[in-house]
Amino acid sequence: MPGTQIFGTLPAEGMTNTEVITEMSKYHDMKRTFWEKGRVSGAVYHGGKELTDLQSEAFSQFTVANQLHPDVFPGVRKMESEVVAMVLALFHGPEGSCGTSTSGGTESLLLTSLAAKMKAYNERGVTHPEIIAPITVHAGFDKAAYYFGMKLRHAPVDPKTMKVDLKAVRRMVTRNTVLLVGSAPNFPHGIIDDIEGLSDIALKHKIPLHVDACLGSFIVPYLERAGFDKILFDFRVPGVTSISCDTHKYGFAPKGSSIIMYRTPELRHYQYFVAPDWTGGIYGSPTLAGSRPGAIMVGCWATMLSVGDNGYLESCKEIVGAARKFRKAVDEEIPDLQIIGDPRASVIAFGSDSVNIYDLSDAMSKKGWHLSTLQNPPAAHVAFTKPAVAAVDDLVSDLKSCIIEMKKAGNTKVEDGTAAFYGVAGSIKTAGVADRLVCGFLDGLYKL
Ligand SMILES: *Cc1c(COP(=O)(O)O)cnc(C)c1O
Repeated sequence: MPGTQIFGTLPAEGMTNTEVITEMSKYHDMKRTFWEKGRVSGAVYHGGKELTDLQSEAFSQFTVANQLHPDVFPGVRKMESEVVAMVLALFHGPEGSCGTSTSGGTESLLLTSLAAKMKAYNERGVTHPEIIAPITVHAGFDKAAYYFGMKLRHAPVDPKTMKVDLKAVRRMVTRNTVLLVGSAPNFPHGIIDDIEGLSDIALKHKIPLHVDACLGSFIVPYLERAGFDKILFDFRVPGVTSISCDTHKYGFAPKGSSIIMYRTPELRHYQYFVAPDWTGGIYGSPTLAGSRPGAIMVGCWATMLSVGDNGYLESCKEIVGAARKFRKAVDEEIPDLQIIGDPRASVIAFGSDSVNIYDLSDAMSKKGWHLSTLQNPPAAHVAFTKPAVAAVDDLVSDLKSCIIEMKKAGNTKVEDGTAAFYGVAGSIKTAGVADRLVCGFLDGLYKL
């Protein structure tokens, strides 16, 4: 990168703080304005200066804190227990419900999968555990299946509503099923699955049901009070046994923060790891990591106290309000784009019958926007955030002008064999070599 030094080995003598900060600031100034103008889908959920100042204060006070040592950092233990309790209350956790904080949504999904696997193994002797989840479920469940030797069986979604097809789920249940999953909402299209329908199946077969509210986080619990929709998806639905909620998304906490919640302590025990005979001493750890960064936990706690119930209610009104305004504009003013399903929360996905949606995303990138591209079918989405609320009108008018230019240039809809890359705007021509391409991309992250 121009103007920066390359450190492939340690500097022989340590640099002064001023020198380090000078070097660091060069990276900070790169390309930053995009998200501050609200033009990046998802990624930065709040970004307000007062809140980031508060989080910096939390980091500065608790830099060395480690949740692995609650006796050394008793305050951090108390703050973590409060964060878990406050999130449980939002999701109507009943008496006895519990949870832990984790490093992010993926870890929450890994842990609920592990707990379901261990429960089925211990209580029913299941040795070939299977998860049934909609095809739209977050890839974190594929990761869980890969890490823990489970099989993820994808249920189709209804092509109209884009909610998981309950009939298909019913047919897929076997003795090996250890977990059912629904999203509230899912990442690709922002659609909330029929959690009550899944709950009936879960109760009938006595299988745990996880609700992935990682993205829904602090939006879905407020939909009803904000005057939008009354949708049941939390512990009030009797078959729901666990819920994941990403405090680092619409909770506005610093990155590296999510909560996994369970209906009962027994279920939480199945995610714990204990090594009673270790020469290092009796070892117990509640989540995947050993040492855990207390500073992030404190940053989360401070954020939740600072925003407060009313603050989250207002942000739900603003963000979902912006999403609905965008949806209405697309429906009424952009006939070349079709909204996917009936999204009720903060994510709006759309495809196109007439232009190549990936080319549209590229054209929008040239105007400084960063949409998320999706595949099967080709589509794109916008996850509305605090910074994006003020940008809806610009977004709509830039979409319109890009489409006009593309159609003038003779652009048509997507050809087969083009795939979308999570977290990267635009698309790649894969022709079936996606695995190798992605590994190359990941290797590339570690090149100097
Ligand atoms: C973001 C997200 C997750 C978890 O992702 P992380 O990047 O690990 O925080 C899980 N499920 C859904 C629906 C998500 O949008």
